[in-house]
Amino acid sequence: MNFYANTLKNMSKAAKIMNLDQETLDILSQPQKTLIVSLPVRMDDGSLKVFEGYRVQHSELRGPFKGGFRYLAEVDLDEIKALATEMSLKCAVVGIPYGGGKGGVKCNAKELSQGELERITRKYVQAVYQIIGPHHDIPAPDMYTNAQIMAWFMDEYSRLVNQYQPGVVTGKPIEVGGSLGRNTATAQGGAFVLEEYMKKNDIKAEGTKVIVQGFGNAGSFAAEILHGMGFTIVAVSDSRGGVYNEKGIDPFCAAKCKEKEGSVTKCKEGKSVTNEELLELPCDILVLAAMENQVTNKNMSNIKAKIILELANGPTTAEADEYLSGKGIVLIPDILANAGGVTVSYFEWLQNQQAYYWELEEIQLKLKRIMVESLDRVLDLQKKYKCTMREAAYISAFDRLDKALKLRGSGAPLRCKVYYK
Ligand code: GLU
Repeated sequence: MNFYANTLKNMSKAAKIMNLDQETLDILSQPQKTLIVSLPVRMDDGSLKVFEGYRVQHSELRGPFKGGFRYLAEVDLDEIKALATEMSLKCAVVGIPYGGGKGGVKCNAKELSQGELERITRKYVQAVYQIIGPHHDIPAPDMYTNAQIMAWFMDEYSRLVNQYQPGVVTGKPIEVGGSLGRNTATAQGGAFVLEEYMKKNDIKAEGTKVIVQGFGNAGSFAAEILHGMGFTIVAVSDSRGGVYNEKGIDPFCAAKCKEKEGSVTKCKEGKSVTNEELLELPCDILVLAAMENQVTNKNMSNIKAKIILELANGPTTAEADEYLSGKGIVLIPDILANAGGVTVSYFEWLQNQQAYYWELEEIQLKLKRIMVESLDRVLDLQKKYKCTMREAAYISAFDRLDKALKLRGSGAPLRCKVYYK
């Protein structure tokens, strides 16, 4: 099942449980706008390559479209549609005033030079700048895009509109309008949710074994933060494979290794394992921080974890989700678990509006409050509807989106689309 079909299935399940207005579900089951662009870019060797780029604007019911863009060879429109939909739900779960969007360019970032990446980014901005803006659609980093790419993005957009506009994109470097705490925000938000969940269920970090799949922005910081909280990180991995040591791995060592050698697989702290093996190793908590469709009907019956924290978007298929929930495994769903990233993006955007920058303590405090309140709301809904945490998170989002739609009425942009069909 593809990721978009998966998301739609999750949506219709939750809609049924809460008896969501069918019109609202119909509206949210389609993105508002989809843009496909072609980007001719001069490569370092003098040749010309034409890349395909996307921006999907899913919903602006609760505020401007918001969501990252990724540079990945496998990117396709359905994937971006799924991710854009998840962004609308994610922003609604944490109650920040944004809708959802997502973008991407079909390219292999690992094989591109800095100059090529800069030219692709500037071309992408030139192609989409008319449909984005600080009050309309605000991109951010995602897989294989980073703070430097956001700096080029902001620079190119500001040139095109002839105005300094740092708030057009978030996840920028601190020196050009970024926010303290943004690079660690996805991991930190997930850690706050996990910490609160464990507190409520009287589980201690000490002696709790954690596997972290993925060692990018979310996974590497998650391993370091959880290690700092007293958890034992028994395995980490990146796209090339992983390392395992039941006594524990120092994630800072793994990070150094990744920086020096390009992969955590070279880390001497444990024995090497494949990515498939990693997910099936014994542990208490499995942190999924790589990408979509990792836990599927192929490996679900071999998963040993009791809690799964989804820092990636869509890492568990609907079928595996059903199976694991049925076995009593707790899945802390992506739209809640990884919402810390977009939450600190919101703080960055607010700071850009004010041209006044906050202290890190203030950011962490505000992030923690939002993550804990959102978890509490999801847990209350889970009790009320006797459903899984994922279903409750979708219900939490739907409730806010449905209210916004009803209040805005037939003037709301999406509503018009349905009426004029
Ligand atoms: N790409 C991140 C996500 O999937 C962050 C999005 C943002 O900050 O807008 O949530």
